[in-house]
This record gives sequence, C-alpha cells and structure tokens, in this order.
Amino acid sequence: MQTWSFHIVPLPTEIADAARRAAKNGAADHAVLTVDSPESSPCRHCLRWAMPGERVVLFPYTAIPSGQPYSETGPIFVHADGCQRYSATNEYPADFRDGRVCRAYDSNYNIIDAQVVNDDEPEVAIESLLRNPATAFVDVRSVTRGCFTFRVRRAR
Ligand SMILES: [Zn+2]
Repeated sequence: MQTWSFHIVPLPTEIADAARRAAKNGAADHAVLTVDSPESSPCRHCLRWAMPGERVVLFPYTAIPSGQPYSETGPIFVHADGCQRYSATNEYPADFRDGRVCRAYDSNYNIIDAQVVNDDEPEVAIESLLRNPATAFVDVRSVTRGCFTFRVRRAR
C-alpha cells in the first residue's frame, strides 16, 4: 500500500454538531433537507455522499477566515441525524474522486496554485501541490459548484 505524505482533515465534529443544534433551533441560515438524488449532497463530516432519504443540514461554513482577500464562506452539508467523522485520514475519500478542484493556499490564506482532478489520481495532484514549500494546506472543492469539501494538510 502506498503511503501518501498528506493527511485528510474532515469537518470537526464540534462544527457539525453546532450546525445540527442550530438547525434544530430553527436558525434561518440552517436548512434541513431530505436528500432526493444520489451524489447530490456530500457530507463534510463522514466524507460520504448522503443517501436518498437521509436528512442533511445545509449551512454556510467559513473555510477561509474573514479579513483577507481570499476570505470565503459558502454552503456545505452535514448529515442531520449524526454520523461518524471520517477516520481514514491517510486515504483520499473514495466518494469524492470525481469533479473536484484542489486549491493550494499559503500560510496567509492566499491561493497560490490549483489543479482540477477528474477521477485520475487526486493523490498525485495533492502531492504535487504539497511539494511546493509555500503550500500550507490544500482545500478540495466541487469543481462545478465551488463548495468546500475538505482540507488536506501535510502528514507529520
Ligand atoms: Zn455524514
């Protein structure tokens, strides 16, 4: 088995749980939806597609903090009824090999590079972005909708 030099960072459980609580309390910017088609709603906590019939919370997530040019807040899903945080952090999540873009950021949250990944070897793209010493982390996003999917850091 190949060992990669990266580490997958799924959404922290505290953030997923806070979103579930906010949705339960009726926060206007937290919608609870029932998934009606496969591969439409990627859960950022377990890093799997939510299945038709499962409920998800849709809410705005600040992937890149405010106060800088590349600040970014955008919509993400998490399972509404709880799920296990993705734990195979040395493996690229199998559900998201298609239709992703990998954006490299420096330590000041500037985008310094990006590569579109289509099924073939997202690991290779990530490794090549991380080879640049200026890359602090890589964010994997939907290539079509632009939504944040998960973060990748160098393994220590
Ligand atoms: Zn989930």
